[in-house]
Order: sequence, then structure tokens, then C-alpha cells
Amino acid sequence: MLTNKTAVITGSTSGIGLAYANALAAQGANIVINGLGDAGEIEKTRSGIASEHGVKCSYSPANMLKPDEIASMITDAENEYGSVDILINNAGIQHVAPIEDFPIAKWDAIIAINLSSAFHTIRTAVPGMKKRGWGRIINTASAHALVASPDKAAYVSAKHGIAGLTKTVALEVAQNGVTVNAICPGYVWTPLVEHQIPDTMKARNMTEEQVKRDVLLAAQPTKQFVTVDQVAALAVFLCSDAAASITGSLLPIDGGWTAE
Ligand code: NAD
Repeated sequence: MLTNKTAVITGSTSGIGLAYANALAAQGANIVINGLGDAGEIEKTRSGIASEHGVKCSYSPANMLKPDEIASMITDAENEYGSVDILINNAGIQHVAPIEDFPIAKWDAIIAINLSSAFHTIRTAVPGMKKRGWGRIINTASAHALVASPDKAAYVSAKHGIAGLTKTVALEVAQNGVTVNAICPGYVWTPLVEHQIPDTMKARNMTEEQVKRDVLLAAQPTKQFVTVDQVAALAVFLCSDAAASITGSLLPIDGGWTAE
């Protein structure tokens, strides 16, 4: 149980981040959600987590492009709850283009949101974790932290970068009761993925099943999507005392993708 612990989860208004929020709240942790989206929908999400799990839940609108807002998200949470015990860096965006056409602004945004934001949350949260002698830092990396695909230069670079950040910080805090790990999912069934299907069906004259199996899951030997709940369950385990010796690890949850 994570009663009396507080978790800050970036990019948790949808998809994997929202699953982390619900799974940690189910263990009794207070939750700070963060991310973009419609204000009314976010408030529904926030109040739903609080009432369903009987925990406190607040929302930080910090933009992961802005270092000062990111640092304030952590210090505000420490002031409101007394501590940030669990930090999950999860916010992320994607852009697909060959290197010679890759928009410079997209490169900068992906490096900022998918990598640098984690530097800013971690550097702000670590002093409190060290002082209390307990902490869990989990970075949502990707199979693309371990292997590459063409046309994803910024995403693959950011995810390989977060693998390096994970290992480095793990060494720095190894004797302070703080673990730092990266979860490396393959294709996960999220709204982001779901919304690509109708266009791909039209463009390639395929059925929904063909798009899922032959396009999206071409790299995934199980031919099954990873579910957000499976990813969240791994995060819950990493927060447990049983996982105290797992640190600096890059943990694939990818249906066999990176075994090939
Ligand atoms: P998603 O689009 O459902 O969630 C992304 C979250 O990040 C949203 O809450 C969004 O509001 C937030 N976000 C985006 N830009 C932001 C900004 N500037 N400031 C604050 N928040 C911002 O996508 P998802 O599939 O749940 O992805 C979550 C993480 O998992 C990402 O880091 C992604 O790279 C990683 N991942 C996803 C998959 C997959 O197949 N879905 C696979 C491997 C890794």
C-alpha cells in the first residue's frame, strides 16, 4: 500500500499516464495529475480519481516545455502534500519524418517534453527524496529507448537519452533509498494509437484487424497490444518494497519486440 505517499505523474490526463494515476491511487497514494486537455474533462478526471479511490488528487497545468513551470509543479506538490515520494515522468509527443525534412521546432519540442522535462522534475524532487530516505522515480521510456525505427530521430534520441538519465541518477541516489527505473513499452493501446486506425484503413484499403496486425503490430511478436493497465501494474510493483533492489533498469514490456 502507498498510503501517505504522494505521486506526481506528468502527462497523466490520458493514456498510460492516466492508468498510472488510477493504479497508484488504488494503492492509496495521493496523486498530482498533469497534462493538456479540456479543462472540464480534466476536472472530471481529477475528481473521479479522488472519489473512486478515496485519496487526494490535484491537477498541475505545468507545461513540460517550460522549466520554471515544471520545477514549480514539484515544489507546489511538496508544499501541498508535504512530500513528493513517487515521480513518474510520462509526458511525451511523437513526430514522424525523415531526418532531412524533420522540422527543427518538432525536434526541439520532443527533446524538451520527452527528455528535458524529466531532468527538471528529477533535479527538483531528488533533494526531498534523499532527505526522507525513500523515493521512486519511474520514467516512461519506450522500446525506442533500446532500438530504433526510421523517421523517428527526435523520439528515439529522446528515449535513448532518458535511458541514460535513468541510469545516471540511479547511481547518484543508490544509497538514499531512492530507485530510478525506466519502463520501455512497445505498442500500447491508447487513444493516440486508436485514432490512427481509421485514416490508415482508408489510406491502405485495409480492415481494422489488418491495420492492427500488419501495420501497427508488425514489430511486436505477440501481435497483441500492451495494455495501459499492464504498464501501470509494473509501475505499482516498482513502487513496492519488493522492488527496492531494482534500480537503473530499463524494463521492456513490449510483447517480445526487443528480443528480435
Ligand atoms: P497520450 O497522448 O495518451 O498521453 C500523453 C500525455 O502527455 C497527455 O496527458 C498529454 O496531455 C501530455 N502532454 C503532451 N504534451 C505536454 C506538455 N507540453 N506539457 C504537459 N503534458 C503534455 O500518449 P501515451 O501513449 O499514453 O504516451 C505516454 C508516454 O508513453 C509517452 O512518453 C510515450 O512516448 C510513451 N510510450 C507510448 C507508447 C504507445 O504505444 N502508446 C509506447 C511506448 C512509449
